[in-house]
Amino acid sequence: MALSFVVLTYFSVMAGLGFGLWLRLRRARDAGASDARPCCVRCWYPLRSWTAPSCPECGSDARINGVAIGPRSGRAFALLLVPFVAGGALVAGLAAAQAIDPVASLDFGRTWVSEKTDVIVRFESAFGGPLRGDSADENWATGTLEVLRRKARPTDPAMQVLHFDSRGRSISLDEVRAALMDAADSTGATEPEEIEQDAVALSLAVEEFQTAIPQRRFGTDSLGWGVTPKGRWTEMSGGGSFSVRASLRSVIVAIVAASLVLVGGMVAAIRFVGPGTRPVQEGEWTSAGRASTAK
Ligand SMILES: [Zn+2]
Repeated sequence: MALSFVVLTYFSVMAGLGFGLWLRLRRARDAGASDARPCCVRCWYPLRSWTAPSCPECGSDARINGVAIGPRSGRAFALLLVPFVAGGALVAGLAAAQAIDPVASLDFGRTWVSEKTDVIVRFESAFGGPLRGDSADENWATGTLEVLRRKARPTDPAMQVLHFDSRGRSISLDEVRAALMDAADSTGATEPEEIEQDAVALSLAVEEFQTAIPQRRFGTDSLGWGVTPKGRWTEMSGGGSFSVRASLRSVIVAIVAASLVLVGGMVAAIRFVGPGTRPVQEGEWTSAGRASTAK
């Protein structure tokens, strides 16, 4: 809804500006206005028919207002039009970039509680990679495992936060075990056996996110990729989202292309749409008049 309004407004303004510029160019062309054939700035009456510095048609004083040699404020219009065209090119370029070179990202978040030790963990992970192509080389994955104090509420702050990143850092079984041990210790009770089983199950689930999932290709079915630690962990809450956007490199290409349209359009506007007016030269009216009479 909001987007269609923006697009409609954009094209309305574009059409309005373009039509205004076209009217001005046509008016100037119909009057035959040029540097060699200047006209009244107000009514386009040609200067060569004047015998005095004031327009015989409308009385405009050429010494004050100058003479029209092209579309009045046509260049300003053209320069105003260029950023709109470049903006349109950018929007079209970004849409094309998303269609041609899409990148998917998947966010995954779950809260699990251990049935045996009542320790709560929050796990969040994000994956990304190209939607096209067969290689998983460019895929990435990051995540955090937060271990909460035993018998904490799911929203309480974490005692331990472990990170992984597919470009280096991974979460090991030893770290998970140590974090669970700390959390269980926080109420003075320890059950090494249970904690070990929890740590192994949790670690295997995290391992799936660290190595297996990033090797897969992303698609619309990726939201179903959730992993839950086996056995003794219960899911308290969870959610995920899948989104598609243009790759960074294609966004850069779209921005460069729109910049070229902007610069090229500015140069073209200055080159091909002349200034609207120039000052009249003293006596130009009579000399122009004589020239036209002599012909
Ligand atoms: Zn006039």
